[in-house]
Amino acid sequence: MTVTTTEHRVTTELSGRPLAAEIRRRTGERAAVLGAAGARPRLVVVTATDDGSTLWYVRSIAKAAAAVGIACDIADLGPEASRTRVRDRLRALNQDPGVHGIILQTPLPDGMSPAELAVEIDPAKDVDGANPASLGRCAAGLPGFAPATAEAVVRLLDHHGVDLAGRDITMVGRSVVVGTPVALLLLERHATVTVCHSRTADLAGHTRAADIVIVAAGVPRLVGADHVGAGAVVIDVGTNATDDGLVGDVDAGAVDGVAGALTPVPGGVGPVTTALLLAHTVQAADRAAG
Ligand code: NAP
Repeated sequence: MTVTTTEHRVTTELSGRPLAAEIRRRTGERAAVLGAAGARPRLVVVTATDDGSTLWYVRSIAKAAAAVGIACDIADLGPEASRTRVRDRLRALNQDPGVHGIILQTPLPDGMSPAELAVEIDPAKDVDGANPASLGRCAAGLPGFAPATAEAVVRLLDHHGVDLAGRDITMVGRSVVVGTPVALLLLERHATVTVCHSRTADLAGHTRAADIVIVAAGVPRLVGADHVGAGAVVIDVGTNATDDGLVGDVDAGAVDGVAGALTPVPGGVGPVTTALLLAHTVQAADRAAG
């Protein structure tokens, strides 16, 4: 499908579920081959929090991993873990040849910088692209893992046939885990990218002018009808727990009939992100097996 930016009536839903299922299917096939050769892929998620929704999310990754034949351990260091303890665990996992993928799950205890600790993760095992070196490798076109959410955005656009080369794309958010890597991946695909953030003077002006708007701000319903040009493609990365349940950064009701296409929350970027974490783990195991 090619989504156009001309007259429209209906907003198409850009579901992530079929793409996620396809990635999981391929990942499972490859994991089975590696498993049969005695090299079952193994992922370890390091946590240092007692935040309930984070722990629920991590358990959902472990379940998804098991379903495709990847072993997944949760290394729960607890909310009192020291920086040294987290660092030493990451170093030990780097050294363990039986571990192929490492995720350092945020949030970390107060005062601990995720980026400072993520530099400890061996880029070869950095399946969520958390080590700044991984991002640098992606920007330079070298082999490495992009942050899974950022890659999920691009894969989702590709899956739905949205052309990127030469398009004007506005990215709302500049975090090192989502906004900045998305912008880099889109530049690599020859898009013209504008990156907005909390100090952007005219957010609506920048988003309205774009063919494609990607929002990762962590602000429920930040983007409404005034922010979206007629027929634009809108990717909502936001996942915000509110009294109304899980909502995105886009007011889906308001942009309905204005946007040409919109990802749902949940069911858009999220499932593709999880599937890519598993796919990266199998790729890492593949490379390790030589
Ligand atoms: P973050 O680190 O808090 O970064 C938010 C970014 O949005 C920052 O760059 C911030 O600007 C910008 N921002 C905040 N308020 C804004 C406003 N009013 N106008 C314009 N820009 C604004 O968050 P994140 O980790 O990137 O996550 C963003 C959202 O994506 C969250 O809802 C998170 O839960 C979700 N997420 C989803 C997935 C998934 O797989 N679906 C994965 C990761 C994250 P400054 O830089 O100026 O502060």
